[in-house]
Amino acid sequence: MNAEALRKVLDLERQRGYVDSAVFGGLDKFLHNWSDQAMASLATPSLLSRFRSLFGVSYASMDAEQRRQWAHDVLSFLDKMEVEDDSKKDSPVAAPVSSIRKKSPPKMKTPSAPAGDKGLDVPITVVRGISTALSGKFGKLGVKTVRDLLYFFPHRHLDYSQLKFISQLSEGEEQTIVANVWQAQEVILGGRRGTEAIVGDETGNIRVVWFNQPYLAKKLLTNTRIMLSGRVSLFKGRHVFQSPEWEIIEGQDLVHTARLVPVYSLTQGLRPRQVRKLMKEFIDRWASQVTDFLPTYLRRRLNLLELPVAISQAHYPDDGATKDKARIRLAFDELFLLQLGVMSKKRQWQESKPGSSFDVNKPVLSTFLESLPFTLTQSQDRVLGEIMADLAQSRPMSRLLQGEVGSGKTVVATAALLVTAANGYQGALMAPTEILAEQHFATICQLLSRIGEEEGEGNLRSYKGFLERPMNVALLIGDIKQAGKRKLQQQIMTGDIDIAIGTHALVQKGVDFHKLGLAVVDEQHRFGVEQRSSLREKGFSPHMLVMTATPIPRTLALTLYGDLDLSVIDELPPGRQTVKTKWLRPNQRESAYAFVRKQIAEGRQAFILCPLIEESEAIVAQAAVVEYERLSQEVFPDLRLGLLHGRLSAAEKDAAMERFRSGELDILVSTPVIEVGIDIPNATVMLVESADRFGLSQLHQFRGRVGRGTEQSYCMLLAENPSEVGRERLDIIENVQDGFQLAEEDLKLRGPGEFFGTRQSGLPDLRMAKISDVALLELARNEAINLFQEDPGLARAEHQPLAQELTRVWTGAGEWS
Ligand code: ADP
Ligand code: MG
Repeated sequence: MNAEALRKVLDLERQRGYVDSAVFGGLDKFLHNWSDQAMASLATPSLLSRFRSLFGVSYASMDAEQRRQWAHDVLSFLDKMEVEDDSKKDSPVAAPVSSIRKKSPPKMKTPSAPAGDKGLDVPITVVRGISTALSGKFGKLGVKTVRDLLYFFPHRHLDYSQLKFISQLSEGEEQTIVANVWQAQEVILGGRRGTEAIVGDETGNIRVVWFNQPYLAKKLLTNTRIMLSGRVSLFKGRHVFQSPEWEIIEGQDLVHTARLVPVYSLTQGLRPRQVRKLMKEFIDRWASQVTDFLPTYLRRRLNLLELPVAISQAHYPDDGATKDKARIRLAFDELFLLQLGVMSKKRQWQESKPGSSFDVNKPVLSTFLESLPFTLTQSQDRVLGEIMADLAQSRPMSRLLQGEVGSGKTVVATAALLVTAANGYQGALMAPTEILAEQHFATICQLLSRIGEEEGEGNLRSYKGFLERPMNVALLIGDIKQAGKRKLQQQIMTGDIDIAIGTHALVQKGVDFHKLGLAVVDEQHRFGVEQRSSLREKGFSPHMLVMTATPIPRTLALTLYGDLDLSVIDELPPGRQTVKTKWLRPNQRESAYAFVRKQIAEGRQAFILCPLIEESEAIVAQAAVVEYERLSQEVFPDLRLGLLHGRLSAAEKDAAMERFRSGELDILVSTPVIEVGIDIPNATVMLVESADRFGLSQLHQFRGRVGRGTEQSYCMLLAENPSEVGRERLDIIENVQDGFQLAEEDLKLRGPGEFFGTRQSGLPDLRMAKISDVALLELARNEAINLFQEDPGLARAEHQPLAQELTRVWTGAGEWS
């Protein structure tokens, strides 16, 4: 029974003074529908008769006082029913567990125990109301310990405390309205695409604008009921809602109680109302036991909330202002800890051995640049200059190279590797997957063969004519034959190999360089911090270039990769086209296939990306095989299809890629291994299955696989049953081409932590920090720099809790005290 919906309606009525305006068309109609449904779920005759007497009324014919009294009665009735309801549902599981739990009440933390508040790292089953079954469900959300649960913040709050009519809106404050959309359209706002809408309630109309969200226009159909929450400003003498939070109100599910109500991201089997209740009790009881690790002087100076207060206010805030303060405190923690950790790593690294300074004026550089079939873009040129300046120093380079897919990072990296080899040092290039490593190998070999005579084949090539000696390039990936691998490793160790290309395998045990001068890491966000540091420890404090196709706003990049300097290629080579992107509904699958067929008839090629399954690689590969068979037997029996997945041997993958590249195959069916870097100019169609399951940046990467030649290219996205967030992503990717903007949208949807995969990478989590927290980012950065200067080892007594917290969040990231 949906008691929540009725509660919301009654609450709105109360706020508006019982004028029967809470639902469109009057309350009676709503009550009629609602009670029909509710009646069915009533168990006992006594409840049933009480229900009949309560709901057999006409709200419209009562006066305000009668309505108030009636609403009160209904609310207490609902409470009573829910109590019965809940006890029915929970008792079978909860009873035995809670009786055990009584014997072990939650442990009180021993004051200022040197180990910090370890008492929080206990399973959540110690919490009253959490049964083993329930804890399993929380486990799915990554919530295992009491500490996890304390930090399991709602992803937002519904602010129903400020519900206003349009005529009551005033400038500046955060306010909420419920209104009807009259019209919405895409517009240009400040040079960028956005949405403008006119909405109204019974007291008037107001203009609403959203910057950068043109896709909204299509969502907000005329007569949609929406809730808008945000600030109102004055424009040319009239009120305007600027980029408010919005929510389409579906059915009768109108509003909630008059407070800030947390909304948690839940999984199946967790009911929002149940979790809200549980969290309230839990927070009231446990939040006070958290130790504040920030030094008091710092917390006071920055005017931050105490940690226990911040945690409880982040869940159940007293009001909007306190909620903001709570978030600021928690976001500060995240950024501050991140920054301290990153700086400490930088120090560790720079204080180890000095690097090698190169002569960057070797003739081979200009020979190489002149041999290219194109001229470098201005951005490439500038970035190459920045890299060369670093390589000339003995302080090891530590640089992040950011650039859209296809912006030409690989060429720049190749130039740097050449200079390294010309200086008698070795270079390493690492990619996130074997296929990409192979492709880098192929690309680099092809570039080098323009300036030198090529010898050898397979995994080892040699080039003559531009250095005093032949230059050797090797591909080292996981599954080449054991004997061959050992031989290559040997040659890397003796210095025979100048440039080694591979995957993570390159930084793992068994590969020692003779004289590693430069390490290039492609696609940073797949590489953990740990791998970065282990690479640095190989060889001779090599110069380090990290390449990423994920555009990261500058301030965030400085914080996340505070140990790296930043270079950006911010233009694409001339003549690149935009890829037409379309989100297809399930019933359009046939026309998608027809479109693929048509393109192939015109001589083009297509990628079909198999559904993402979050299980083992073996299962993903298996699913790809099945899909491949279905497509080649049932859908495209007359076309030539190939299959690519992570379980194939290097030779098999090579063969498939090569056949596709040479045009022997029309369609390449693939798992997401194809995500980054693959470069096939004749491929014009990318069809993505289960597109809703991928993140925006990932989808953008997939899309970047096509549109690399001169023909118009297309990206088609299929999604069977997308969730709300999934739909939102598809909407965005369909309408936004710019990678930078996509990254920002992605960050908004996922938050920086998930976006960068910090959870897997050994970096501390970012949950509360937002992309827009520029000032806070800078504050945290500056405070970290100050603290680090004053007490680099965090040795002072007042910094002990902080040192412990650092150790805890930077799992395995080294010593702090
Ligand atoms: P990224 O690694 O940034 O995705 P690549 O280095 O793989 O990009 O380059 C993508 C494609 O663009 C390659 O085919 C490359 O040869 C080509 N390319 C690179 N720089 C230029 C340029 N300045 N002008 C024209 N084409 C370029
Ligand atoms: Mg690339």
